[in-house]
This record gives sequence, C-alpha cells and structure tokens, in this order.
Amino acid sequence: MSYDTQPKASHFVDGAYLEDTAGERIPVIYPATGAEIGVVYAATPAVIEKAITSGLRAQAEWAGMMGVERGRVLRRAADILRERNRDLSVLETYDTGKPLQETLVADATSAADALEYFGGLAGSLTGEHVPLGADWGYTVREPLGLCVGIGAWNYPTQIACWKGAPALACGNAMIFKPSETTPLCALKVAEILIEAGAPAGLYNVIQGAGAVGGALITDPRVNKVSLTGSVPTGQKVYATAAAQMKHVTMELGGKSPLIVFEDADIDNAVGGAINGNFYSSGQVCSNGTRVFVHEAVKDAFLARLSERLKGVVMGDPMDEAVNIGPMVSDRQREIVMGYIAKGLEEGATLVSGGTAPKQDGFYVEPTVFSDVTDEMTIAREEIFGPVMSVLPFCDEDEVITRANATEFGLSAGVFTRDLTRAHRVIGKLRAGSCFINSYNDAPVELPFGGVKASGVGRENSKAAIEHYSQLKSVFVRMGDVEAPF
Ligand code: NAP
Repeated sequence: MSYDTQPKASHFVDGAYLEDTAGERIPVIYPATGAEIGVVYAATPAVIEKAITSGLRAQAEWAGMMGVERGRVLRRAADILRERNRDLSVLETYDTGKPLQETLVADATSAADALEYFGGLAGSLTGEHVPLGADWGYTVREPLGLCVGIGAWNYPTQIACWKGAPALACGNAMIFKPSETTPLCALKVAEILIEAGAPAGLYNVIQGAGAVGGALITDPRVNKVSLTGSVPTGQKVYATAAAQMKHVTMELGGKSPLIVFEDADIDNAVGGAINGNFYSSGQVCSNGTRVFVHEAVKDAFLARLSERLKGVVMGDPMDEAVNIGPMVSDRQREIVMGYIAKGLEEGATLVSGGTAPKQDGFYVEPTVFSDVTDEMTIAREEIFGPVMSVLPFCDEDEVITRANATEFGLSAGVFTRDLTRAHRVIGKLRAGSCFINSYNDAPVELPFGGVKASGVGRENSKAAIEHYSQLKSVFVRMGDVEAPF
C-alpha cells in the first residue's frame, strides 16, 4: 500500500489519528495473499473514553448548526470521496479482497451517494404545525445524540457512510467500530469528513472486536446503536441496547429467495442470479441464494448459467479484468467449504465449482448446486459465500409458501414477464428489500432493510431519518387554562 493510501494509525478520534499500542494487536490480512499488510490495536478504555467525550462535545456544536451547513459538510465529503475513488477502491480491495473491478464502482461511490443524499436532506428536516382549534401544536425533529455504528466486513466504506451520513444529517455524532477483519476503510471516511469541515470528534472510528462494541453500547451516554452483522450478534446487541432502552437499527443476515417463472427472460434471470450470488464472492447480505426456478425452464436456466460461468475470471483482485476475488478471511473460506461439503453430503447435485483452489489467498470457486430441497442445510442457513442453490418449483402458490418458509426476511426477487404476477407475488413475499426483473440494486433513494430475523429499522432513503431522530411535540394553549380546582 502506498503511504498516502494507508491510514496512519489504528483510530481516528477527536479530529486526528490516534494510536495506543496497549490494546490487543489485530493483524490486517490481505485476503488475496494471506499476507499481513498492517496492524491495528483494539481500543483501550482510554481511547473509548476519548471517543465518547469528544463525540458528545462535537454533537452539541453540530446540532446547533443550521441543517444546510451540516449538509454542505456531508456533500463536500461526498465530492472528496469521488475525487479519490481510485485510491479508496484500492484500499477497499486490500481490506476486503473484493476485485478492484467492483470496488471502483460500488464502495466509495455508494458511500458518496449516501453523503450526498443525506447532505441534501439535512436542510429540510423539519417538524410540522398542528392546528388544534383555538390552540395549536408543533413538532420538532431532534437528533438522538451520540450514535454507535458497528460494521460487518463486506462493505466497510459503504457501511461507514450508510450509518454515518443519516446520523450526521440529523445532528447526531457517531462512533463507528469497523469489523476487526476490515479495519482500514472507515478511518479514511473519518479523515475525509474532517477535511470537509466536520467538527473534531463528530465522527470517530475506533478498532476492536465484540468487546469494544459491547463497551460502547453499554455506556449510558450512547443513545443509539446501528449494527450490520449476523443474526446472533444482532440478538445480543439488541438485547444489550434494550436494557437501557436505546434506539436500534439492525441490518442482519438473510437467505433470500429469487424466483424465476416460466415466462421470464432467461438471460436476465441468469444475470440476476449471478449478481445475487457471486458479486463480492457472495458476501452480500441480501443475496438471492435460494434460486427457485420453474420446472419448465430449469434446464434452460442451468444451461445458460453454466455457459455464463465460463466468463468467471478469478485471481488477483487488483487486476481489473478479474471478476471473482477471494473470501474475506481464511475462516470465511472454511465456513463456505463446510457448507459445500454439506450440500454434497445431503444429496444436492454439483453443477459448477465446489473447490477452493490450491493457491495463496482465500479463494472459493463460484459454486452452483441444483436439485436442492428446502430441508437441506444449504437451503436453510446463510452461507455468505459464492454458493447458489437452485430449487425447482411448479406452482405460484407453492413457491410463495416455500420462499417464505425461513426465519429471515431481508430480500426477495421475481423474474417474470407477467406484470400482474410480478406485483402479486412480491406483495406476498415477506421481505424488506425486493426486486422485480433485477437483483441486488441498492440505490440510496430506496429504503434498505429486513423483516423477521433479518432486522429492524431501515437504512437509506427518507426512512432512515426516522431512525436517527426523534420528535418532540409541543402543545401551545392560546387561552386560559381550565383546571378542576
Ligand atoms: P458479525 O460477526 O455479526 O459481526 C458484525 C459486527 O459486530 C462486527 O464489527 C463484530 O466485531 C461486532 N460484534 C460481534 N459481537 C459483538 C457484540 N457482542 N457486541 C458488539 N459488537 C459485536 O458479522 P460479520 O461476520 O462481520 O458479517 C457478516 C454478517 O453480516 C452476515 O450475516 C451478513 O448477512 C450480515 N450483513 C448484513 C447486512 C445488512 O445490511 N442487512 C449487510 C452486510 C452484512 P468483530 O467482527 O470485530 O468481532
């Protein structure tokens, strides 16, 4: 990594990089080689305290500014992210192993979208006037205070901004704790926000594993926790937050259905299934990993999919021709290979892939199983890797029932040329983020989030404002007060 690209210390607190080597050593591993490319140290109690006190101080200043002034800072940060897209994309690739081909168009760019979008909204976050006969009332939209963001490792820059941008637009401060697996990218977001004019302490980034996240969310000075992570972590964090009645947003895992009807455009459906299973080596929460394909087109679908899989270019993620990179970690590769073994053991038919190439780095081939049944482990549990399960179906009602038979409810997709059916089926699928004749688009203008075990709250869009602000209502009496005595 070039000196300019690499963050200069473990933490970014109170407007500057901060080091404290007394914390637990966390190696930074480049997933494409397995080599240690850096080191950060988990936040010590002193670092956590500084993050909280500087956050509280900055929040008071920030909340006192006009919305348009806050918005200007966010929009400036968006511009800087875009100007430095290439450097930030290279850093994202070092952090995650995702191909540069992807990171150049999906990470700093989507983070910039969030900063730009919420920066634009910041000046129009108002309450309302409520006429009450001779009297009246009004509401004031107020910030929550100090928010904590805890990120997963698959989209470190994007998650830092999907949480930070709406939080800051609403007048809050944020302490962001990245996943210990991908500690680098959020530091650059913090650095850029300062450059864009944010007050020191407004957006602090501190490193560490679950214990640091735990220390933050149990602190009574923290008012909100937004987590992106797995369901088990979400359950723990939600319960901890509930003990102090803190606000929460939970963006958790999924096992989403992607349904291909017999009248679908097969090439588009295959394209959707590729995007919904193999982008970022399958490490995407909303992936449509249960691909239900109508019996009548199953063979055609699998034939076209096999053909298009010949276009996979797996290798050095810094090579822009490469479209499949490694898993984020050795552990994640082991988990994915364990699921592939389970798929074979339980009788699914391996159509493609299935192996981890013997080379440096944590690679797993894009893998497709057909003849998968609803009971198989690979059809029930989130794998978070490049493993697609194809399940045949015959009937619309049947596929809706089967698609909904899961604890998760993050996403769902339908491919069909029948407009009425598309909307009818989507209407019956229990999922938060849905797609018709597409898969995995996540524009900042649309709410993103899950139902059931996949989470609570929404990120992106105007809906996110509800989750980073609260309403104060004020009753104004214009006449005398009547009282019983
Ligand atoms: P994870 O293991 O649940 O960890 C998520 C974050 O929580 C990490 O920063 C982790 O720290 C931290 N953490 C773990 N235990 C904690 C605790 N007790 N208290 C506070 N923080 C704690 O998830 P992951 O493996 O990083 O990410 C994969 C999961 O994220 C998948 O299930 C995926 O579906 C989900 N995800 C969801 C979305 C969405 O928007 N719905 C988006 C992306 C990913 P350490 O990792 O440093 O220990």
